[in-house]
Amino acid sequence: MNTEELIKQSAAEQRKALLNKEIKATEILDAVYKHIETENEIIGDFNSLTKELAYDTAKEVDKKIEKGEQIPKLAGIPLALKDNINLKGYKTTASSKILENFISPYDATVSNKLKDNLIPIVGKTNLDEFAMGSSNENSAFCKVKNPWDLKKVPGGSSGGSAAAVSAYHATLAIGSDTGGSIRLPASFCGIVGMKPTYGRVSRYGLIAFGSSLDQIGPFARTVEDCAMLAEVIAGYDEHDSTSLNIPEPNITSNLDKDIKGKKVGVIKELYETGLASDVKQAIENTIEAYKNLGAEIVMISLPLIKYSIGVYYIIATAEASSNLARFDGVKYGYRAENCKSLIEMYNKTRAEGFGEEVKRRIMLGTYALSSGYYDAYYKKAQQLRRLIKNDFDNAFKQADILICPTCPDTAFEIGSKSEDPLSMYLTDIATITANLAGIPAMSIPFCVDKSNMPIGIQLLAPILKEESMFNFAYKLEKAADFNNKYKNQFITK
Ligand code: GLN
Repeated sequence: MNTEELIKQSAAEQRKALLNKEIKATEILDAVYKHIETENEIIGDFNSLTKELAYDTAKEVDKKIEKGEQIPKLAGIPLALKDNINLKGYKTTASSKILENFISPYDATVSNKLKDNLIPIVGKTNLDEFAMGSSNENSAFCKVKNPWDLKKVPGGSSGGSAAAVSAYHATLAIGSDTGGSIRLPASFCGIVGMKPTYGRVSRYGLIAFGSSLDQIGPFARTVEDCAMLAEVIAGYDEHDSTSLNIPEPNITSNLDKDIKGKKVGVIKELYETGLASDVKQAIENTIEAYKNLGAEIVMISLPLIKYSIGVYYIIATAEASSNLARFDGVKYGYRAENCKSLIEMYNKTRAEGFGEEVKRRIMLGTYALSSGYYDAYYKKAQQLRRLIKNDFDNAFKQADILICPTCPDTAFEIGSKSEDPLSMYLTDIATITANLAGIPAMSIPFCVDKSNMPIGIQLLAPILKEESMFNFAYKLEKAADFNNKYKNQFITK
């Protein structure tokens, strides 16, 4: 097998090859790094590489296999970690100048779980600064390119993680999702990405953006791989007060369960208007595919969706303005020089260290929380958030799963929306409601549009029903056969 064939394999295939001793974990890493080293300059998916850690892990896997010992299910499979998740001894920058030289003093719970499972972490991936964005153009370092078309954005904010998996620089990746940051890039890059139920995965060690919305989740090229990674990172953590103390999910054993007679709800507001024509066609074909699988289709109205962008951009910015107060030049990272007073140092550090979008969010959030405006904006947004959650509760009385396109359109050209924050915020219309309601949701690649750009379909499930959601996703993946039918244009050399 040449290196190109090797890195294109799924985690399940790589595991088989490892167990059959056809390949070593260190050889998979060699292949991956060979490609990253020449292609990262083109795609910009990694902020930094963590080679020493990756090779130490891979060597341990090889030793265990050599000795005939059991290895965890994703041991030896290369993974890319979003650079807003702490990894001890390595830089964690959140793609911000303010944390450019910050070295993590501890591991996030998710990083620890990856290490315990002997998953080699190949590097830290680029993102929109502090995970604020939908296109990865807000990184303080470089814009990430979409491997399907280098003129287009990969989606954001976890664009580096999605591009890495799509360009075969890693078999798996971890991202974070506050309003769609896993699902949107998964959709734009033609891969699978999942946001778990709020509280399912520990947020300890994730640099907080909107704490009541943030969740860490998996990326992969297949639903099965994504399910395996979802199981690895889930679980109660006493370090996170919002972590759910419940048994870990068993997602992988029910992937192929029959869905005959189950009800698939099509979200009316994200179906009837506002979709690009190829995206509309894709959702119609998805409906057909589910019908062929014996599922019953029902139309579901979520009338409050039209308020969700407004609600989200008040709550998320309010929480961000509070969470980002800690970056003041005293405890972490960048500190402005030649300041005559403490206040001047705070001001200059934040003015020089944060990018435009982050400053915009801090100002918006501070405004929404200020006395006199709190009741008019923040309180109203929280009330609407509850009503949106109620809408979902009602919807799930009528359907087992809800579907819609992950985004009304496919990936757009770099620079085409960056001057217009409102049109950028509209790309989140289909994804943010899941974060507001705390429910699990995922994007799976279904087909491509006329310009050969991937179209993702989003599945949304009731709280803690990841197992059922993956079952529906697995069935649709089989029907779509995306990985065999479509290939990205990015030619690995
Ligand atoms: N695009 C959304 C935002 O900019 C979502 C980001 C995210 O999920 N981290 O807030």
